[in-house]
Amino acid sequence: MRSNPADYELIAPGSVQAIVSLLAKEPGVWLPIAGGTDVMVQYAAGKLSARKLVSIWNLPELRSIEVTAGEICIGAGCTYTDLSGNEVIEREFPLLHSAARCTGGVANQNRGTIGGNIVNASPAADSLPALLAYDAELALVSVRGERRLPYEGFHTGYKKTLLAPDELVQALCLPRRFSEYFSYSRKVGARNAQAIAKLCIAALGLVGGGVVEDVRIAMGSVAPVPLRLIETERTVRGKAIDSDLLLLARTSAAAEIRPIDDIRSTARYRSVVAGNLVVEFLNRLSSDQRGARVGVKDVLADWNRLAVDQAISVIQPCCGSRVWAKAMVTGRPFADEAALLAASDQVWRNLARSDWMEAFRSHPRIGESRARSAESEAPAVTSPDQSVEWSAQEQRGVEDAAAAVKRALMEANREYERRFDRIFIVCATGKSAPEILEILRRRLNNDAETELHEGAEQQRQITQIRLKKWLQG
Ligand SMILES: Cc1cc2nc3c(=O)[nH]c(=O)nc-3n(C[C@H](O)[C@H](O)[C@H](O)COP(=O)(O)OP(=O)(O)OC[C@H]3O[C@@H](n4cnc5c(N)ncnc54)[C@H](O)[C@@H]3O)c2cc1C
Repeated sequence: MRSNPADYELIAPGSVQAIVSLLAKEPGVWLPIAGGTDVMVQYAAGKLSARKLVSIWNLPELRSIEVTAGEICIGAGCTYTDLSGNEVIEREFPLLHSAARCTGGVANQNRGTIGGNIVNASPAADSLPALLAYDAELALVSVRGERRLPYEGFHTGYKKTLLAPDELVQALCLPRRFSEYFSYSRKVGARNAQAIAKLCIAALGLVGGGVVEDVRIAMGSVAPVPLRLIETERTVRGKAIDSDLLLLARTSAAAEIRPIDDIRSTARYRSVVAGNLVVEFLNRLSSDQRGARVGVKDVLADWNRLAVDQAISVIQPCCGSRVWAKAMVTGRPFADEAALLAASDQVWRNLARSDWMEAFRSHPRIGESRARSAESEAPAVTSPDQSVEWSAQEQRGVEDAAAAVKRALMEANREYERRFDRIFIVCATGKSAPEILEILRRRLNNDAETELHEGAEQQRQITQIRLKKWLQG
């Protein structure tokens, strides 16, 4: 280690207010240190010019993730582990989620913060193209108060930003309007993990009526700052994705970036790969159903127009209760997915117990593929093919279970049926066989009333997942 610790001072005032007061008193003298994963590399290399460090690590004001109807605001002090563990980020901001998961190794993800990534301002940083694609805004704080500015434009040159010397990044806020977009990201490096990118891309796209409705493409390591490919976006917007457009997009991307030769790669390599990545993104966008916002809208609009009987049979596989299906059909037209999901919950909660039971009977036992009624062991009345297929997908975690676990599940299922006189219902999506077994054993201790409501809640969750799948075609 070439730096001498005795030359440095580190303090931890413990609140944002105290820290910004300190920065205001001696602007440019105190260097904030969050996770230290960039600062300590400079320190170890003897290149850390600041001698006075102020810790902003783990301050509650910088470590929260707040979700409102319109946006998600992520505290600048959130680590990559915080980001990848957040459900809303995983579901609605997959580009940021995957960037968090491929930044360094686990130790780095536990310590490195998103604020540090932004202010460190490396053009190769993994999360920054995602922030550009998602149209992020930054919330900055100082003794002068707070200000918000678009993240795009925050980096003014290589390792230069609009942050004033007395300011901290408090949070970054992403609008919640991209969840229907197809998303695509790639990190091209010597390895998938523990490697700085030679090039990275984060892109979002929407196809409607056979043409690109909207597209947002951002890249890292292709210019002195993380770059949005505005010209390439303009080139493809409003056009059908065909071989002519792919060629145009490739040429435009190569013209728009400003790559350099450095220790990780060459400008020429980066130019060729940037074009390849844009082409791969557009190819996937054109073939991925989820890229088409009209996919969800069309499915719903078509269903809104169907005759009553047909509409019932289409929606029935999402929930085996006929009364539920009829009420949903009566509630048409639904404007969007959110309205449909909310109506489903409301109808379900107000159903009679016998209707809940009917829905329960439409499921196969965990570990089986066909629905059976508990009483007769005969296949249940309503088990349309779509429902069978979804059940198989939901129970994927059980398929590969060890024989002993499967046997234990079978025995616990029988015990459950003896005790409650119906089959065990659990929202199995994403759960492994041992997890399901543990839940099943725990629920065997419930009294009848508690268990009925627990089963109903599980069915509610299953229905929500199936409705979303159905809408996505
Ligand atoms: C082994 C290793 C692997 C890595 N792999 C990757 C990788 O794959 N991808 C990648 O993008 N990066 C990688 N990095 C870089 C680093 O981990 C990230 O840039 C990280 O996000 C930095 O966050 P930090 O909290 O550690 O920042 P720090 O080192 O604490 O700070 C970095 C800079 O940001 C400033 N700063 C931090 N927070 C704020 C704030 N809230 N307001 C104002 N200024 C602030 C500091 O003053 C400093 O100038 C790696 C680093 C290491 C050591």
